[in-house]
Amino acid sequence: MMRKLAGSVIAVAITLVSIGGGGDIDGQGRDQDQSQPALALPVPPASPSSPVLGALSQNIVAARDALDEPLVLLVGDEQMYTKLSDHVDVLPLGSPPPTAAELSAVAAARIVDEAVSHFNRDSYPHHLCAGEVLVPGIYGVSIDQDAARRAVETELLTRLTKNDARPVRLPAEVQAPPTHPALPGRYDSRTSVWLTFDDGPGAYTEQILDILAEHQVEATFYVTGENARRYPETIQRILDDGHQLGNHSLTHPFLPRLSRERIYRELQETQDIIYEITGYRPTSFRPPYGAVNATVCEVVAEMDMTLSLWTVDPEDWRRNHSASYIRTHVVNLSRPGSTVLLHVLSNRTVSALPGIITGLRARDLELSTATR
Ligand SMILES: [Zn+2]
Repeated sequence: MMRKLAGSVIAVAITLVSIGGGGDIDGQGRDQDQSQPALALPVPPASPSSPVLGALSQNIVAARDALDEPLVLLVGDEQMYTKLSDHVDVLPLGSPPPTAAELSAVAAARIVDEAVSHFNRDSYPHHLCAGEVLVPGIYGVSIDQDAARRAVETELLTRLTKNDARPVRLPAEVQAPPTHPALPGRYDSRTSVWLTFDDGPGAYTEQILDILAEHQVEATFYVTGENARRYPETIQRILDDGHQLGNHSLTHPFLPRLSRERIYRELQETQDIIYEITGYRPTSFRPPYGAVNATVCEVVAEMDMTLSLWTVDPEDWRRNHSASYIRTHVVNLSRPGSTVLLHVLSNRTVSALPGIITGLRARDLELSTATR
């Protein structure tokens, strides 16, 4: 029963314009329109060539208003505007003319399709920078299409028959954004102490790996792209031994002084080098010197990585910090959930490591266990 009716639709539109916009045509109508209620405008009898108007002839003013009245659709805090006249091309014109209920049903289906493509989306996680939400996540939305169609249909029918317009809240499932996972499983427990080793791989990395294996401790190695290129076997062993690999830039620069393009290159080339060696892309970035600015944070988020800093820092790179100083500092200052910053640069760190592990365990602090 739909059919043939492009001509009729045009006729409808023309008729409606001549009713609603007549004042504008002669250039003096606006004031007149505002001073006179719409009901006072002359209403022609329904023309036989206008099936919609024919169908709605009991209340032609309501029909005209209903076609152009903004229809506000709400989901959560968001809204979308549409109007019935945008969907008039799908109205089932024909003989006999459609009822207001039929018009409402057809237009509601079309309006809900439009709403689905406007509102529906997957959730997107929060991105963190230095522990703060860097890029707020996005709520996922999934409209309940059957229920939404019924709600819109009811509203359209009310408009067409009672000249009464209200916003429609669309029934939908709204999913809160997750927080972007940082190295899955690692931060789940805030009770363990996490050891991290920066700036490698280097001459001491293999020894550190031996000690970690002996004590069955899992750690993260934040490596630079340049060093990864020099020690590809060590990079592979880090993963094979059950540890995590993180990105620590290509050349270890002070990133906040660099352009966005160079920051991007520092991170991306390191990702590529690690991927070429291992087939794995790190999901965690540690900025050299812990130095970040907004641009660094944005680039990290764009690359879908999280930013990782630390909470315990014995400054093991200082020459006057002996192995026993490093060990004592880490063992005494670590708490459940601490992240310990160490480097792979000196024999002092290697010497301190067994005592760090046994000392933390003696304090009943947990260390994650490497799983090969
Ligand atoms: Zn570093």
